[in-house]
Amino acid sequence: MPAPTTAAAPTPPPPTRTVATETATVERPVADAPPEPERRTFAQPLAPRSETRALVLLYHAFNRGAQPLSVRTKDFEAQLEWLADSGVEIVSLSELVEFLEGKRDLPAKVALISIDDGLTSVYTKAWPILKARRVRFSVGIPTGMLEDPKNAPVMTWDQVREMVASGLCEVASHGHMHRRLVNLSGKRQWEELELSRDIITQRIGAPPVAYYYPLGAYDPPAAEAVKKAGYRAAFRATGAPIAAGSGSHFWLPRVSIFHGEGAGVLSHYYGAKFLGQIRYRESLDPARASR
Ligand SMILES: [Zn+2]
Repeated sequence: MPAPTTAAAPTPPPPTRTVATETATVERPVADAPPEPERRTFAQPLAPRSETRALVLLYHAFNRGAQPLSVRTKDFEAQLEWLADSGVEIVSLSELVEFLEGKRDLPAKVALISIDDGLTSVYTKAWPILKARRVRFSVGIPTGMLEDPKNAPVMTWDQVREMVASGLCEVASHGHMHRRLVNLSGKRQWEELELSRDIITQRIGAPPVAYYYPLGAYDPPAAEAVKKAGYRAAFRATGAPIAAGSGSHFWLPRVSIFHGEGAGVLSHYYGAKFLGQIRYRESLDPARASR
């Protein structure tokens, strides 16, 4: 299947209303955008911005043997169960980005499920679980691999669209050919950032909000290029929590979940010691700075 070669005009972030209540929604003027998630009511109460701590949990494959990046579905289910039982709100990628941009508040403990690489086991193993539990999640798609899937066990665009149509799944870019962005320039950098963005926009009907750095590789010039390409946030792989104003939106941390880790790993990550390593910085919080 040929990749689209005509680059669409850069899409500016959609205008949004300030949202500070549990039920407010965000306006999306894009005509062919995927259906809105159902009207949002969080299970947990909203917290003052200074108190919210988010962890972006990073998954790759499911039930693919004992490889480090393959998580058993029974462990995955136990982790989702732990989050639900422990007062951790699972939010969407857009909700987390809106929080960081100062456009919405969130509960005190937050998780974003992110699954990189677009592998088939996301659809065959994780999706039935996420769908049954109505859990929001995001997939980081290396677009070139879905466009030409002969060499990789990746999902089809139809499968991705089915997940997106549920309102539970958001697509982030994970590059085009899954290249390290560091020291990349010219056509190769354009493919990873702009072409990947345009293919997702064409295949899904909405531009990706965020970029998930392939191999976690980033540096300040790479982050600047991601920003220039119209993404609103970018995530790497080094494990740390996130607070409002805790750092640049273009090298946000994620916490990798590995094979053999059960629910216990989450009680470590959501414990006071791990969450306590990061501080809210009012001076860097867009919601405060604009007042
Ligand atoms: Zn990857």
